[in-house]
Amino acid sequence: LMQLFRPLDLLGMVYREIRQGLIDMEAMFRLIDTPPEIADAPGAPDLQVTGAAIRFDAVDFGYDPRRQILHGVSFHVPPGAKLAVVGHSGAGKSTLSRILYRFYDIQGGRVTIDGQDIAGVTQSSLRRAIGIVPQDTVLFNDTIRYNIAYGRPDASEAEIVAAARGAAIHDFILGLPDGYDTQVGERGLKLSGGEKQRVAIARTILKNPAILILDEATSALDSATEASIQEALGGVSAGRTTIVIAHRLSTITDADEIIVMDAGRIIECGRHEVLLARGGAYADMWALQQAEEAENGTLVA
Ligand code: ATP
Repeated sequence: LMQLFRPLDLLGMVYREIRQGLIDMEAMFRLIDTPPEIADAPGAPDLQVTGAAIRFDAVDFGYDPRRQILHGVSFHVPPGAKLAVVGHSGAGKSTLSRILYRFYDIQGGRVTIDGQDIAGVTQSSLRRAIGIVPQDTVLFNDTIRYNIAYGRPDASEAEIVAAARGAAIHDFILGLPDGYDTQVGERGLKLSGGEKQRVAIARTILKNPAILILDEATSALDSATEASIQEALGGVSAGRTTIVIAHRLSTITDADEIIVMDAGRIIECGRHEVLLARGGAYADMWALQQAEEAENGTLVA
């Protein structure tokens, strides 16, 4: 009877391998999801990062030219400063980060890093300079070590451990049955939202980018997890020019500048206290979140 089942077993294995391949490929495409029309200008030089100052100058953009999403968006992030972007769902917050990473070219205006138009430098040098901690981290069906080192395959064991410590996930990993060799992803250990975010933070620490984009998860984590993730993020963003796409306003009260977006336009900007005192859209959002927090003990956007 065993003889009979062996081919079926084999088939199952082949199926799983193919499925696995598809999942990895899908994950890859999500990570390098670049429309083909984005190309380096002939002879484009590499981006020369000095202080990593970011400037959006009257940026107009639409994914489809018939539907404009951003309307004359201008802001400046000085070297090492932290800019927070807030606004209702669909306001255009994530679009700003996709444009900075040059997933798309803009239709009007200019985006520069240290004075260099991002459309005029090589995409590889641009993307080396930017680290993104996304809302949802894609994990590969591989070991947790591989997942942390992803993007820096040459990283040493010491560097990987240091990154995991910086992301406050080292102790968790040591507690796993196979430590850093534990298989994660669809086929292995399923990590929680908070754990996945820490893997993303560790990846970013290893990448060591001059510019950091944090796309805060919409779903609220429990407050202890949230606090430790915020602490880890604070460590990574220190000394780097940072853009935070924030849903919970309580995480950005220390930002050097907050921009409030509505339907693709910046409607208010300033520091937390200034915006509160102004009594406008930001103050309303703040009051609403405070009331929600009082009601159910969590902060949600
Ligand atoms: P959220 O807080 O929900 O993440 P957001 O402020 O980040 O929202 P964006 O993701 O920047 O909003 O989207 C802004 C607008 O652009 C939305 O109206 C959305 O429908 C549109 N949009 C986003 N991505 C695409 C895309 N790939 N193709 C076409 N339209 C898109």
